[in-house]
Amino acid sequence: MTRVLVAVFCVLMMRPEVCASAQRRQPTPEMRRWMERLRAQHDIPLRQWRPRSNAVVPVTEIRQAKYPIIDVHKHVANPIYPLDEKAIARGVEIMDAMNVQTVVNLTGGWGEELRHNIEKLSDTYPGRFVVCTLIDWSTIDDPDFSEKAVRSLEEAYRMGARCLKISKYLGLYLKDRPGKFVAVNDARLDPVWSKCGELQIPVMIHTADPIAFFRPWDEKNEAYLSLSRRPEWYFYGTDYQGVPRYTHEELMRQRNDIVARHPETKFVGLHYASLSHDLAAVGELLDRYANLMVEMGARNWALGSVPNSGGKFVLRYQDRILFGTDGTIRAAQFAEYIRTLETDNDLIRFQRPSPWGPIHGLQLPDEILRRIYHDNAKKLFPFLE
Ligand SMILES: [Zn+2]
Repeated sequence: MTRVLVAVFCVLMMRPEVCASAQRRQPTPEMRRWMERLRAQHDIPLRQWRPRSNAVVPVTEIRQAKYPIIDVHKHVANPIYPLDEKAIARGVEIMDAMNVQTVVNLTGGWGEELRHNIEKLSDTYPGRFVVCTLIDWSTIDDPDFSEKAVRSLEEAYRMGARCLKISKYLGLYLKDRPGKFVAVNDARLDPVWSKCGELQIPVMIHTADPIAFFRPWDEKNEAYLSLSRRPEWYFYGTDYQGVPRYTHEELMRQRNDIVARHPETKFVGLHYASLSHDLAAVGELLDRYANLMVEMGARNWALGSVPNSGGKFVLRYQDRILFGTDGTIRAAQFAEYIRTLETDNDLIRFQRPSPWGPIHGLQLPDEILRRIYHDNAKKLFPFLE
């Protein structure tokens, strides 16, 4: 039928070139079957799609960072990276090779575990490690939770811990006896924030997650692939028990509330304060709260995927951004971050696929590199070199 119409059109309009190409493009039934076979042969689930650009662009070989790095976001003791002497020594070798001066181990724990962590890290390698303590959330329902948490913090400080890490567990997973999620600005935690201010140790806080995890999981969601690999990261609506979750906006308000109410306490908003999708909003927070800094761990793509606004952001807030990577000590990961900050490379590819498209190097000037790599973190940890 279509072919008949095309033929009639050709004759009426006297346009032979249109007729010829239109007829050539009509697949025959045999060709159609072959096309269907091809499609079926190459069909894969969307979550397996790992596109590679064919663009040929310069790739700078990264040997080490231009200036010494203080990486404020690492997890040194975990099943992948055990706390045995050999693994730590290997980690220090990687740090030496990449010009990483110091690594902050966010997950030092508390009590005996913390003591062990400090002994093996900051005591054995002075200046090379800083260890954070954690809060024991299992005691949240105890009437003396606040006092216990403050006491644990003081003890941790005496042992040598120099920061407190708050993971996204607070706000996204922790429920108390009534079965509701505990808010980030829950009053039970106020004495903890005050104590950190008193001890002059920063609160390294991870609240919420990328905003896409809080939006409907559908064909428009930019984190579609991440969610299909890790469905436990879906924070939209209710949790697996039907308990209503806080929205991303609510969690941001709760976090901002504690930063506002504790001006004597220094806070570090990990992962660009979970607002990497809106750098203007990150800037507003930094303008509003002098006691807040942000960190780039696991969001290496954030500035490099929007290199124009990312470049302006880093220029304006160069004294408020900290270098951090997240995860264990790995040379390839340091290289990815260094490549993004130091070079003009295009289409930077990460070891772990990023759903946020191509990343472009920011080619930061030396004085900004020095601040982000080192000087800003030294303000939080003044005892470091
Ligand atoms: Zn982390």
